[in-house]
Amino acid sequence: MALEGVVGIGITKRPSQQCLDAVENAARRAEPEEGTVEQNTTPWIARKKVTALAISLVALPVLMTTVSRRDSPWTPASFWPLATFARQEKLLGGLLVPGFDERSCLSRYRSAFYHKNLTRSPSAHLIERLRQHEALQRRCGPGTEAYRAAAARLRSWRRNGTKDGVCRYLVLVPYRGLGNRILAVASAFLYAVLTDRVLLLNGNTSMGEIFCEPFPGTSWLLPQHFPISNLQNLTGDVRESYRNLVQNDSAASLVSRLPYVFVDLDHSCTYHDKLFFCDDERQFLRRAPWLVMRTDGYFVPALFLNPAHQDELDRMFPRKDSVFYLLAHYLFHPTNKVWGLITRFHSSYLRDSDERLGIQVRVFDGDTPFQHILDQILACTSQEHLLPDVVTQEPPRLSMAGARSKVVLMTGLSSWYYENIRWKYWQSATATGEVVSVYQPSHEEHQLSGYTTHDMKAVAEMYLLGMTDKIVTSGWSTFGYVGHGLGGLTPWIMFRPENHTTPYPPCRRAKSMEPCMHGPPFYDCRAKHGADTGKLVPHVQHCEDMSWGLKLVHPE
Ligand code: GDP
Repeated sequence: MALEGVVGIGITKRPSQQCLDAVENAARRAEPEEGTVEQNTTPWIARKKVTALAISLVALPVLMTTVSRRDSPWTPASFWPLATFARQEKLLGGLLVPGFDERSCLSRYRSAFYHKNLTRSPSAHLIERLRQHEALQRRCGPGTEAYRAAAARLRSWRRNGTKDGVCRYLVLVPYRGLGNRILAVASAFLYAVLTDRVLLLNGNTSMGEIFCEPFPGTSWLLPQHFPISNLQNLTGDVRESYRNLVQNDSAASLVSRLPYVFVDLDHSCTYHDKLFFCDDERQFLRRAPWLVMRTDGYFVPALFLNPAHQDELDRMFPRKDSVFYLLAHYLFHPTNKVWGLITRFHSSYLRDSDERLGIQVRVFDGDTPFQHILDQILACTSQEHLLPDVVTQEPPRLSMAGARSKVVLMTGLSSWYYENIRWKYWQSATATGEVVSVYQPSHEEHQLSGYTTHDMKAVAEMYLLGMTDKIVTSGWSTFGYVGHGLGGLTPWIMFRPENHTTPYPPCRRAKSMEPCMHGPPFYDCRAKHGADTGKLVPHVQHCEDMSWGLKLVHPE
C-alpha cells in the first residue's frame, strides 16, 4: 500500500501512506536487525501464495505496458514503466530536471510526495523554455568567461564605451518581507525567460540560505564584488533609470551609451516607470547588456497585458491560473535545514489527520492582538463551513474512537488568535463529533525580515500552509499569497478590516490561486492611453482583496 502510493498509481490522497518516510520505514522494517535470526511463522504454502501475488502485481503492469507499446521502439524506459512514472512524479511532470545531487537539497525531488497530485501540469512549451533557460544560465552565469567579460565591461564602462557581449543579464534587487521577495523573484524569472536574460539575485539577503540553487551547474546569486556597489540604494531618479530613458526622444541611442538600465518597480513607482510593463524590449531595451530591477511584488499579470509577450505566454501557460504555482515549484526548493523544519512539523502534526485547514493571520495595524480579527476568523470559518460549531452541553459520548480528525494549522506573528481557537475546541465538543486540533509552529511577535532563522521559520510556514487541504488567508498579505500559491490552493481571503471593525462578509472564496499584483499599471499598451487594466483581457481581473490590484484567472 505504501509503495503503491509512491511508485504505482500516483498520489491521489494526502500523505500518511504516501510520504517517503513511509517508504523508508517499510524498507527498514523489511531488513532483519543485525544479529537476529528472522523467524517466519507463516506456513510455507501461504508464503508461496504471497510471493506469487506480489510477483504478479509487479509484473502485470510491466507486461501490459510492454504489450501495448509493441510498435514503439525499445528503450530501457519501456521496461521500467513504474520507475518512469515515479520519476515523472518526482520531477513534477518534467518541470524539474534530473541530475542534481539529491542529498544536498532533499526538498527538490521529495516535495512531490508531500503534496496532492500536481494541481496543474507544466505545458511542453514551458518545459522546453525552462531547459533552454537553464542552458543560458549555465553558459553565462557566474564563473564563466562570458560573465567575467560582461562584468569587466561594466566595471570599465567609461573607458571602453559600448561593446556587445554574448550574454545579457537581469540583476534583481528583491526587498521587504519574504513573501514580497519570493513573488519578486518569480516575476523577474519569468521576465528573464521571456527576454533571454540571465537572472542573478542580489545576494545581500537570506535567499541563498533558505533556498537551493534552481539551475543545474551554476548559481543564481550575484557574485560579491559586483561592479555596481549600491544596488539597494538605486532609485528611479538615477540617470540610468528606465523612467528617464522612456522620456527621452532618442532612447534607442541613449541606451547604448549607458552601462546598465535600472528598472524601478516598487509598488509606488511612477507612471513612467510603469511604462516598462508595455515595453517591447526589442525596440531598445534589448541593447542593454545589464538590466537592474528593484521590485517587491508580483508583476506577472502586467506581463500578460503586454502584447509583446502575449503569444509566448499563451504557449507557456495555456491555463492562466497556475503561473505562480508552476514557477514556484520550479524555483523554490527549501534548503535541508528548512526542509527539516517542514517535514518534522508535518510528520508530528499534519500527516495523520483526516483533513487539514490552514489559517494565515497577518495583521497590518500593529503587533497587538485584535478582537475584531479573531471575530473575523471565527465568522469566516463558520460561515464557509470550514470549521465545525461547538456545543454548550457536554455530549454523552462514551468514546472518541473513530471520530473524524481535523487539524488546523495556524500561522501568525502573534499566538493570541491560535490560543483562543485552540481553547474553543478544547473547552467544548464539536457539533459534528469531529476532533479539532490546532497548532501554530512559531510566533515571532515582530517582523525581522532578513534574519536567517526568522526567514527560515517564515518559509517553512508558507510551505506547511501549502500542504493543507483548504486555506484561509489574510487579504493584502504576500505571505498568504505564497502559502496558497505553493499549495495550488484557491483560498478563502479575509478582507482587510477598516476602522477596527470585522468586515462583512468576513471572507470570500478567491477566483484563482494566483497572487495579486498590488501596484499594477493603469495603461492600455495597445491603445496607448490610460485604461482600467482589469477589463482588457478576460484572464487579468481585479483582485478580491484589493480592488485596484490585478490577478490572473482562468476564465471558464
Ligand atoms: P506580507 O507583509 O504579509 O505581505 O508578507 P511578507 O512575507 O512579505 O512580510 C512579512 C514578514 O513578517 C514575513 O516574511 C515574516 O518575516 C514575518 N511574518 C509575518 N507573518 C508571519 C507568520 O505567520 N509566521 C512567521 N514565521 N513569520 C511571519
